[in-house]
Amino acid sequence: MKKLLIKNARVLSPEDGIDEILDIVIRDRKIEKIGKRLTGDETMDMAGLVVCPGFIDMHVHLREPGYEEKETVYTGTKAGLRGGFIALACMANTKPVADNRATLEFILNQNQKAGFLKLYPIGAVTKGQKGEELAEIADIYAAGAVAISDDGKGINSCAIMRRALEYNKMFHGPLIVHAEEQTLAKDGMMNEGLVASLLGFHGIPREAEDVIVARDLELIASTDSSVHFAHVSTLRSTALIREAKKKGLPVSAEVTPHHLLLTDTAVKSFDTNTKVNPPLRTLNDIEALCEGLRDGTIDAIASDHAPHTFEDKDCEYSFAPFGISGVETSVPLMLTYIVKKGVLTLGDFVRKVSVNPAKILHLPLGTIREGTEANLTVLDLEASGEVDPEIFLSKGRNTPFKGWKYTGRAVYAIVDGRVNKIG
Ligand SMILES: [Zn+2]
Repeated sequence: MKKLLIKNARVLSPEDGIDEILDIVIRDRKIEKIGKRLTGDETMDMAGLVVCPGFIDMHVHLREPGYEEKETVYTGTKAGLRGGFIALACMANTKPVADNRATLEFILNQNQKAGFLKLYPIGAVTKGQKGEELAEIADIYAAGAVAISDDGKGINSCAIMRRALEYNKMFHGPLIVHAEEQTLAKDGMMNEGLVASLLGFHGIPREAEDVIVARDLELIASTDSSVHFAHVSTLRSTALIREAKKKGLPVSAEVTPHHLLLTDTAVKSFDTNTKVNPPLRTLNDIEALCEGLRDGTIDAIASDHAPHTFEDKDCEYSFAPFGISGVETSVPLMLTYIVKKGVLTLGDFVRKVSVNPAKILHLPLGTIREGTEANLTVLDLEASGEVDPEIFLSKGRNTPFKGWKYTGRAVYAIVDGRVNKIG
């Protein structure tokens, strides 16, 4: 078996306390050796590049089965690799819903065939994501799910939520919460506030998120069952999660790039690519989310990649579906507007997209160690360009970031020792 030598790279692995210029030898899918002046059969000089533990996007929608016109496992994972990820976790709101063993096995099978990266499916909490009856949770985990979630919809019934939390304790994954109180959010298209009033659009108040976060934190306190809050968007829910963590509750949280970079004023463009759920909030909320990232209240950055067809989004604002295609823009935008602007250090960013997602989902990833499978993301912090949806590999070209300039992107994604150059 040939030895691949990665030479002269800045190796950055916060979990292993490594940040220095080193060589890495990869053989037979694994990291054989990390050190200085190593030798190999084939050499890749990576001087000037940063080798990180492989990036994980823990919240994407791949749409298959059921909505193959929007995305498939093949196109979504190919897009994920282009985005610099070596692993994705995909949500259960497919058709049929991934609330049973057969659907999860189908998704994993499709990924086996595609062969680009590692895919970790998330199963539904309730049958059909209707919020009424628990799904076959034991079967879901047996089929390979890493967590359960009704993401896309909030679970309104406290009784169902409590039962799900109690039951889910028996398994290894967290329950991922889509915090949205449905009666408050009903008919809403954007953040409730001044801009919504000006535009005459029905708003989704912050309380729709905050009351569910508060409720679920109470339920977690009494059940001691672990929960991960998806796409946190408000000042208040960030504060509630911070308090809960101080008390030692088993809680984690993520934020999306679009909630960090855009406010509800973007909706004034009437561009349906600004319609997301939860909605874009305000500068106050963004500041709170950034503080949450800095102090560790928010553990992860995930794209909530939600591809739609051009036709789906090419309509009046009120008729457009929620969501943006984000898996290919997440890393360059975060490197440029979060790391370069000083919100996070590069090391802390790596925690949010690799170390912490691995911990939350209990995946054997997030480190660079001898003897482990070689799953690495390589960054060029100087590579510049601009977001061009026309060249997306995802079927979804629905992005509000068209034309945004970036400096810094992933140039290689190494999956189980297989080197993929990202063009
Ligand atoms: Zn989602």
